[in-house]
Amino acid sequence: MKIEISRGKVHNEFAQKVEEISGQNLFACYQCGNCTAGCPVSFAMDLGPHQVIRYSLLGLEEEVLECNTFWMCASCLQCTSRCPKGLDIARIMEAIRLVILRKKERLDRLEVADLSEDFLERVPQIALISGFRKFTS
Ligand code: SF4
Ligand code: SF4
Repeated sequence: MKIEISRGKVHNEFAQKVEEISGQNLFACYQCGNCTAGCPVSFAMDLGPHQVIRYSLLGLEEEVLECNTFWMCASCLQCTSRCPKGLDIARIMEAIRLVILRKKERLDRLEVADLSEDFLERVPQIALISGFRKFTS
């Protein structure tokens, strides 16, 4: 895939939105890769968390929103504890989830109607709550 980067895209509207929601300064990231190296689910991610930050700053919104990284993120805070710049990467992942869930053409990822009664009887309530927090706007 050929990716085109223009000067005008840097610190674009998308990156600003992610910063606004997460309260994190994406420019603080100096791409050391510590976050991705320590992430327990990075093996299953399309892009490492550090790449998501770089892509966001470069205005590659579609590439970021189409990757599975922020859906796979388990909010375990391992990356956050390892970041030498003090960035809360889990919050950045949450912010990107919210950006996509708030887009009109993209619907919630979880519907109550799709869950069977049997499943609802067995699943721990806390799992339901965190699932709805993560997959719905
Ligand atoms: S650990 Fe922090 S500074 Fe290093 S790449 Fe990740 S977010 Fe950037
Ligand atoms: S919070 Fe998410 S991105 Fe960070 S280490 Fe945990 S699973 Fe990986």
